[in-house]
Amino acid sequence: MDCLKIIEKLQKEETADREEILFLLENLDGETEQALHRAAAEKSRERFGNRIYLRGLIEFTNYCKNNCFYCGIRKGNRNAQRYRLESEDILACCRMGYGLGYRTFVLQGGEDPWFTDERMTAIVRAIKREFPDCAVTLSLGERSRESYQALFDAGADRYLLREETSTKEHYEMLHPKTMSMEYRLQCLETLKEIGYQTGCGFMVGSPGWKLEYLVDELLFIKKFGPHMVGIGPFIPHRDTKYAKEPHGSLALTLNLVAVLRLMNPKVLIPATTAVGTLDPRGREKAVLAGANVVMPNLSPASVRKKYMLYDNKICTGDEAAECRRCLENRMRSIGYEIVTDRGDYRD
Ligand code: SAH
Repeated sequence: MDCLKIIEKLQKEETADREEILFLLENLDGETEQALHRAAAEKSRERFGNRIYLRGLIEFTNYCKNNCFYCGIRKGNRNAQRYRLESEDILACCRMGYGLGYRTFVLQGGEDPWFTDERMTAIVRAIKREFPDCAVTLSLGERSRESYQALFDAGADRYLLREETSTKEHYEMLHPKTMSMEYRLQCLETLKEIGYQTGCGFMVGSPGWKLEYLVDELLFIKKFGPHMVGIGPFIPHRDTKYAKEPHGSLALTLNLVAVLRLMNPKVLIPATTAVGTLDPRGREKAVLAGANVVMPNLSPASVRKKYMLYDNKICTGDEAAECRRCLENRMRSIGYEIVTDRGDYRD
């Protein structure tokens, strides 16, 4: 086998065999890695040009009923200072964001039972009423089909739910027995059936990981056919049992972004905050490996330090306008433009 041949195959056929992808990821060197990133960035430019879509991330609650072993806001973390934004605060974030050119608002939070369907649909409706030209993306974890349907009917357009891993053995290293991989994967199917633009994804290098699992994840995603995929390195959080585990590799994350892009030319791929946390130029590098979305933080500065999924998360001291400007400059520096556009998935 030969790395350049496999890259060529990915470019042409938009897929490769499990063994080939594994071989590629294991055998890249400086030169072939560059070729891979270039091919992926080229694939992305064919479809999106040098346009980068913008999503405003509003972290509206850090209460969570789950205990994912890797996550800083898991229920069992007594050191987390909990907060919940009022609907008015969320709307104020959207107003601020709208003025800065955001046309997608991503509401992300822990699984907080306080946000019942009644409360959550009211928030979605209020945002859609005031900003009918904007997309609302939800990232609220696992809910029932009825709940997903009610939120969709209230106007939510998109939903992000990373599967984290679709390998059972690995899922069980990351989650307590009370959680089920089957249910999470079922949720993803349900979201797609309902009609959401659906996003899945995974952490790179999370405890118990194997390269084989990551290749299987790429194949799972290809088969599932999501509209969006988020990938970021695992980064330990001091108040978790995985505090002493090493963070995921940036290089591997970028290579996975590149293969993902070659396999899924139309998919929307963010240059994630976790990538930016490992390397000040991580998000630029992700775009140059095929990502085409950035997701600056729009949360009120007063709560940012409390939404600590992992240690050293970036931008926790900034205001919304600074984050927007910073990313604009970062993208310009590599020849890309942030655009004011909903940036919906198109077939
Ligand atoms: N409660 C929602 C949102 C979770 S937070 C849900 O269940 O989907 C969003 C993402 O952050 C998670 O899906 C996970 O992939 C990522 N994340 C959590 N802890 C992390 C860590 N320690 N390092 C890197 N990413 C992490």
